[in-house]
Amino acid sequence: MSMKTEKNVPEQVHDSFDRDHLWHPYTSTVNPLPTYKVDRAEGVRIYLTDGTALVDGMSSWWCACHGYNNPRLNRAAENQLRKMSHVMFGGLTHEPAISLGKKLLAMAPPSMNNIFYADSGSVAVEVAMKMAVQASISRTGDHNRTNFVTIRSGYHGDTWNAMSVCDPVTGMHGAFGPALPVRYFVPQPRSRFDGEWNPADIEPLESLLKEHSSEIAAMILEPIVQGAGGMWFYHPQYLREVRRLCDRYSIYLILDEIATGFWRTGKLFAWEWAGVEPDIMTIGKALTGGYLTSAAVLTTREVADTISNGEAGVMMHGPTFMANPLACAIANESLDILSEGDMADRISHLNKLIAEGLEPARGYENVADVRTIGAIGVVEMKEPVDVGEFQKQCVKRGIWVRPFGRNVYIMPPYIISDDDLRFLISNMLEIIKP
Ligand SMILES: *Cc1c(COP(=O)(O)O)cnc(C)c1O
Repeated sequence: MSMKTEKNVPEQVHDSFDRDHLWHPYTSTVNPLPTYKVDRAEGVRIYLTDGTALVDGMSSWWCACHGYNNPRLNRAAENQLRKMSHVMFGGLTHEPAISLGKKLLAMAPPSMNNIFYADSGSVAVEVAMKMAVQASISRTGDHNRTNFVTIRSGYHGDTWNAMSVCDPVTGMHGAFGPALPVRYFVPQPRSRFDGEWNPADIEPLESLLKEHSSEIAAMILEPIVQGAGGMWFYHPQYLREVRRLCDRYSIYLILDEIATGFWRTGKLFAWEWAGVEPDIMTIGKALTGGYLTSAAVLTTREVADTISNGEAGVMMHGPTFMANPLACAIANESLDILSEGDMADRISHLNKLIAEGLEPARGYENVADVRTIGAIGVVEMKEPVDVGEFQKQCVKRGIWVRPFGRNVYIMPPYIISDDDLRFLISNMLEIIKP
């Protein structure tokens, strides 16, 4: 990593109260990484309190697909705010939820029929897993058919059950040990998205299901792109084989589209790469264009009615902020923006620029792999990256990228200009260049 000393980051952007009292994601209170104080954000730029502008390569973790301070999303929020920001969803309903539901069903796999609004991605994953268990018990009458199978290197969120299906090594299993339910894991498919399909990839799942399917309610995985668990893109044939085995062994298929949804991979949803429809699907992150926390679980009429005909007679979940009208109103506008543009064309343009821009990194001796799909670009290093040092370099150069493990990756807002994208990528490469 080159250590050019340009201007130093001023102290005023590191807040001491923040350092001493506020927890950030996965941070130590004893030895916290520096945080940078943001004043405002607009378009693809995040402005720090000292005026430094950072071109955003992260979309605030897959969310801010239309950029920050978007006039249309602002207006949608303001209009809804004047009517009501929230009412309970128990016994009440409202137009923002209904209209969003109609749009989501029109976008979703044709078999989806029922929607459960949740308040975050992790909660959506909990709800999806609860749906699978309730439907499975109701359908088979077997109370032991409640476990899950997933692939290694996945990420599904930080709540209890979501954690249990995250990668057992890079995930949080170590810290929680026997407190976590024990799930079945099969190896990550190694056939690359853009490579040849190797039929050996599916064999571990087949032999596992042969032996254990009677204990399993569902398989859960991220379609095509494994996000926070490793930024890996696998072959669509794997999903087709998964669907075939789920049908053969009568287990449900949950596709977690929380990161992949809303065009990030170059399709509206990533299942389309394989043409494989799930029984249950989770969405979140970019749903509100990065404005508010909101998520949803979509499922088939078969699953929904099986749950309702079971012992409990109802779907056993109901978050306080379910279908929050403000979030729904913003999500409605965000989906309209996506439907109006030629998104397939837009994302393929971004992909071309990302692939071209990252090309030189293939020749770096400290780089293990370079891969892109849709509006995602990954440089996998041979060694883990020092996040604190890397981000210091980013801020000096006016970009915002947050590596994880050995992966330095970008997933910029879709509105990014060609010049800003080139600036982002060339500066990122300057930092990783040996
Ligand atoms: C981020 C993410 C989640 C969790 O969403 P939160 O809103 O952070 O709870 C679940 N699944 C996938 C695939 C994700 O990328």
